Amino acid sequence: MLLCVVFAFCCVLHGFASGAKPNIVLLFADDLGFGDLGVYGHPTSTTPNLDTMAKEGLVFTQFYSASGVCSPSRAALLTGRYQTRSGIWPGVFGANSAGGLPHNETTIAEVLKEEGYATAIVGKWHLGVGFTKNNTYLPIHQGFDYYLGIPYSHDMCPCLICFYPDQPCFDKCRTSETPCPLFENSTIIQQPADFTTLAATYTNAATAFIRKNSESDQPFFLYVAYQHTHHPQFASKQFRNSSIRGTFGDSLSELDWSVGQIFETIRSTGIANNTFVFFTADNGPSLTRQVRGGNQGLLKCGKGTTYEGGMREPAIAWMPGKIKPARTTELGATVDILPTIATIAGGKTPTDRPIDGVDMSPILFEGGQSRRDYYYYYPKSPSPEIGVYATRYKQYKAFFYTQGSHCGSPYYDHDCWESTRQAKHDPPLLFDLLQDPSEKYPLNVEAYKDVVSVITEMTEKFNREMVWGTSEMHVKSSSADQPCCKPNCKPFPTCCVCKQGRLHLDKSSPIF
Ligand code: MG
Repeated sequence: MLLCVVFAFCCVLHGFASGAKPNIVLLFADDLGFGDLGVYGHPTSTTPNLDTMAKEGLVFTQFYSASGVCSPSRAALLTGRYQTRSGIWPGVFGANSAGGLPHNETTIAEVLKEEGYATAIVGKWHLGVGFTKNNTYLPIHQGFDYYLGIPYSHDMCPCLICFYPDQPCFDKCRTSETPCPLFENSTIIQQPADFTTLAATYTNAATAFIRKNSESDQPFFLYVAYQHTHHPQFASKQFRNSSIRGTFGDSLSELDWSVGQIFETIRSTGIANNTFVFFTADNGPSLTRQVRGGNQGLLKCGKGTTYEGGMREPAIAWMPGKIKPARTTELGATVDILPTIATIAGGKTPTDRPIDGVDMSPILFEGGQSRRDYYYYYPKSPSPEIGVYATRYKQYKAFFYTQGSHCGSPYYDHDCWESTRQAKHDPPLLFDLLQDPSEKYPLNVEAYKDVVSVITEMTEKFNREMVWGTSEMHVKSSSADQPCCKPNCKPFPTCCVCKQGRLHLDKSSPIF
């Protein structure tokens, strides 16, 4: 009886007791830094729509991605589990990778399918294609009803035109690979993908999906994984030269526009009061791109590292009437999104496997405390022998290892440089992240013996208990694994061009 009362109280508190299940929209940027958005303090970014979302929602200041690089970060986001468990290590998938997110992993989309949701992903998947295995790793085999997007980073293929109408990309990227493929479900509908119209293509698909489902009162899950603001920057006619922040600013403005279109659709279809929107990013800014990359604000280093700049991200939660506008210093992480969404949707977090995420509902809906006071930082290419590089416990962060990444020698801090090799720290380097978010001043470990001993013990336990999935990065592959709209054509790979592919979003598209 008491349990029933408590349950009913919680449901009323969250406002999910009656009516349709809430819609869920997950917006995910690529290589976006903690300091890139206007609302996070960037002086020359133009992000009015994300700033509005922040004004109306809950802004996190201590929110982490699971990795400093793309594929592992996305695996953890979608499964609520560290990437080591699912085998998405070391590093990231490339255009000709043959592995992918194992089918026995349970994604957010699969959790929501159980609850009757319609599911779609628009954008960058980066969890494998399986081109020579009937595209078995694409999203439609991982719980998504619909997919439209380039399935990996758009610099993993030749970069041709990036800015309207015909301005080249900053560099040519990987000229030995097939042109960037745009997939709809498992069909390549455009190759190379047109970057000057890509934002509109993605946005049209996203808003069409929202409209279709809102009209039929069908609860939905929409995951928009932007190619923006990963290198090379690109922008359409509307956003080329639109920002005083250069090409990165143009690309970021385009992303923000797309977010605005999605919000406009949510509002105009009358579902705003029953839609949960969450925005964050996969990893920190690529400092090797200098001003053409993002900005980590006051944090140390960027992409690929376990310093705060590599893994602490902007994060905003929005649900009018249920999430109060505020700013929080509570800890959150991308692995927490699956359990949180499961709660919001009345669904089930898998219980047949270890889940690293915790439900963020107390922070989101009750102004309460996080269920985590710790976080583990895996490097971009983790190994079972070494395990995590660093651990946060309360405000303290201990580094057992450090290493630079994605950063060249013009950068002022040589700890961040790609050439700065792995270094072991015994005793660990200790920082107080509340007083020193920039990780500038190591604490005297002698004076913090108790803290060091607690963190060391919890880190050893975590490393000892981690069960490593077989690496999907080491699955043997060949150039035939690269997606090509004309398989077996010659001369490969330049023959893989289908500019007249079926127009996506025509009336035969599954989302109509
Ligand atoms: Mg990334």
